Parts: sequence; structure tokens; C-alpha cells
Amino acid sequence: MAETTGEAPTFYCDAMLGGLARWLRAAGYDARFDYGIDDAVLLARAREQGRIVLSSDGPLFDRTVVRTGQVRALFIPRQTGKIEQLHFVMRHFSLPLRPARCMACGGGLIEVPRHAAAAEAPPLAFRRCDRFWRCDRCDKLLWNGTHWQRVDRQLRTLAGEQ
Ligand SMILES: [Zn+2]
Repeated sequence: MAETTGEAPTFYCDAMLGGLARWLRAAGYDARFDYGIDDAVLLARAREQGRIVLSSDGPLFDRTVVRTGQVRALFIPRQTGKIEQLHFVMRHFSLPLRPARCMACGGGLIEVPRHAAAAEAPPLAFRRCDRFWRCDRCDKLLWNGTHWQRVDRQLRTLAGEQ
């Protein structure tokens, strides 16, 4: 499915797909997730913000705004792992890997010089890591530590399987 612009699509994950939202962000996509959000509210926000809804909730697809295409939505098969879900979405929309976004909120990451992170980074992370980023939305400091390396490896494996 071709996107209308060269910009990356943005997503809104339903209340059950928080894990998928985090992985989409790691793959470089802005994905919103609100814990416990009601379907009607989710659809209204997705429409307002032009986001594609990702949902495992069958009845959501019967709602008028989805049936008439006012809100684009993709059904995510249940009982699949987060990585399989991510693979499913990336394949469906032919999405390439993009620069990672903040896994906590989906904000963009801006690299900060290592010395600027010294006061804030945990000492061990500061000693071991050479690159640091700050989220432009939640202000969180991130670094290329073991957690990120694991995520990055899985993303690369997945991208290679497309
Ligand atoms: Zn953030």
C-alpha cells in the first residue's frame, strides 16, 4: 500500500498493543498508545491526528469511521508476539527501518555530545557507552547500552527478512 506522502506514517495502537507501540518506535515510527483508552476516544484522536489505527479488537472494525475509511485501521492478529506483530505491520505497509524514536513516548531523538550527558547518565552507562540521545518529547536521556543493542539486533534481523 503506497503512502500519499514521503513522510513516515504514524500509528495509534489500541489498549492491548502497548508492546507493539514500543517496537514501532524503536523501528523509527511515531506510535501512540494510551493505557486503557476507550475505542471511541482512540478513533477520534486517530482521526484528528491522521494516525493509522492498529488493533486486535474485532468490533472496532465495525465502527462507521473505520468502515467508511475516515480512519485507516489494520487488524493485528491476536496471540502473536510483539516482534511478529511489528513484522506484520512493516510488511503490510512496506516500511523501512528508520532512525529510532524514543521507545517510551515516540518522540524524536537528538544526539547529545557525550560530555553533556555526564551529569545525568548513570555512571556505568556513561563509562561504557559512547553515544547519547535526548528525546525531544519526554526529555528522557538514552544511550546505546546493552538493552538498545539487543533491540537494534532484533530490528536488523527482522529488516533482513522483509
Ligand atoms: Zn520520549
